[in-house]
Amino acid sequence: MRFASLGSGSQGNALIVEAGGTRLLLDCGFSSREVTARLARLGIDPGGLAAILVTHEHADHVGGVFAFARRHRLAVYLTHGTHRAAARGRAALPDCHLIDGHAVFAIDGIEVRPYPVPHDAREPVQYAFSDGDRCLGVLTDSGSITSHIIDVLRLCDGLVLECNHDQELLATSRYPAQLKQRIGGRFGHLENGQAAALLRQVDARRLQHVVAAHLSQENNRPHLAARALALALDCAEEWIGVADQEGGFGWRQLG
Ligand SMILES: [Zn+2]
Ligand SMILES: [Zn+2]
Repeated sequence: MRFASLGSGSQGNALIVEAGGTRLLLDCGFSSREVTARLARLGIDPGGLAAILVTHEHADHVGGVFAFARRHRLAVYLTHGTHRAAARGRAALPDCHLIDGHAVFAIDGIEVRPYPVPHDAREPVQYAFSDGDRCLGVLTDSGSITSHIIDVLRLCDGLVLECNHDQELLATSRYPAQLKQRIGGRFGHLENGQAAALLRQVDARRLQHVVAAHLSQENNRPHLAARALALALDCAEEWIGVADQEGGFGWRQLG
């Protein structure tokens, strides 16, 4: 099983998970043309994707989903609430699968486990993936850590983990007070310290990869995110990956 990011941050998110010849696209916050170009960097043709999974209706996750799915006739999996909120004013999806945010399902050889997260969207979920051997957990766009989140991510071999902001940088940023409250609130985004606290509650011995994701360009710095996560794992800062808006990150293998 391997995974890569096409870009991560408030301007757009998309991640590829691949196992046994099946490739899934998780979110598509880029235009159809942009995501096609970013896929080409990884040597992937859009027609080679088995499906698109969507976490929630915010534009940085769903922005390109409808147009891209229609153009390439791709199956899309999302919750009822996300579909209702995202489909407004858009032409229908060619192959739409409404999922239960608590029920495991399979797409070809990949087992997909959605799980609900506290975020200010209609019915947001995040996902863990397994090929029966290894497990990848993805968590972004969550305002707080719940015991259910820990249960899902506890035994993963790889984690892509939101480090949206540094608390101090957010507090002193030029953002209006209301926006700061939204981002830092229970239904906003995880800060470096919250992501680090989560890492202290999982089985760290299993972890082959940890990548910090969805960093705010304004309110975080890659080295601050890496340092917070490295402290939690007692590992070298360089071992922590950091996804960026433009490049995402390249293939990482779970072996
Ligand atoms: Zn987001
Ligand atoms: Zn969001």
